[in-house]
Amino acid sequence: IPEYAFIGRSNVGKSSLINMLTNRKSLAKTSGRPGKTQLINHFVINNNWYLVDLPGYGYAKVSKSSKKKFQKFITNYFEQRKQLAMAYVLVDVRHEPQPIDLEFMTYLGINEIPFGIIFTKADKLKPKAIERQVAHYCEVLLKTWEELPPYFITSSSKKIGQDEVLNFIDATNEEINGLKNN
Ligand code: GDP
Repeated sequence: IPEYAFIGRSNVGKSSLINMLTNRKSLAKTSGRPGKTQLINHFVINNNWYLVDLPGYGYAKVSKSSKKKFQKFITNYFEQRKQLAMAYVLVDVRHEPQPIDLEFMTYLGINEIPFGIIFTKADKLKPKAIERQVAHYCEVLLKTWEELPPYFITSSSKKIGQDEVLNFIDATNEEINGLKNN
């Protein structure tokens, strides 16, 4: 069954988003402490796809060697996953595009892994500011990419964007199944 991987800088709100998408309050552990999700977690959704929770990257307080190890771990995952349908890169809607996220998207592109962007913590900004942030992010992306990836504006605390993300995944699954059956 197809897998969808969720990844982003630590503290971006990944655990909260996964809890929102899976409708669980205490499934993926959330915490203010960066770097808490250490291993890969799989969640089966609706019996027809896997949500894959990858560890957060980019915390400042780790050694170079553990950064290397971590990179290896992530690249191993992406290079071995045959069932991977798409990766979702989470970015905090309040932040400037971060080099580490952009580099990661480039890595996905080079490896021909389709990806989408999930903007998190939308409740922290007013609609106008969200619009501005997202437009700016898209502008930066268009310096590297010919086309924009699908993107979603979410807030786990206000339950925004849940249906959009889940419907998009359902549609992608249908597309994949359609291709399989033809
Ligand atoms: P992770 O490290 O990426 O898994 O991030 P967490 O889900 O643990 O969230 C990190 C911090 O951001 C926690 O203090 C959360 O309460 C907070 N947070 C996560 N999502 C949201 C959101 O949508 N809105 C707001 N206001 N805070 C959020």
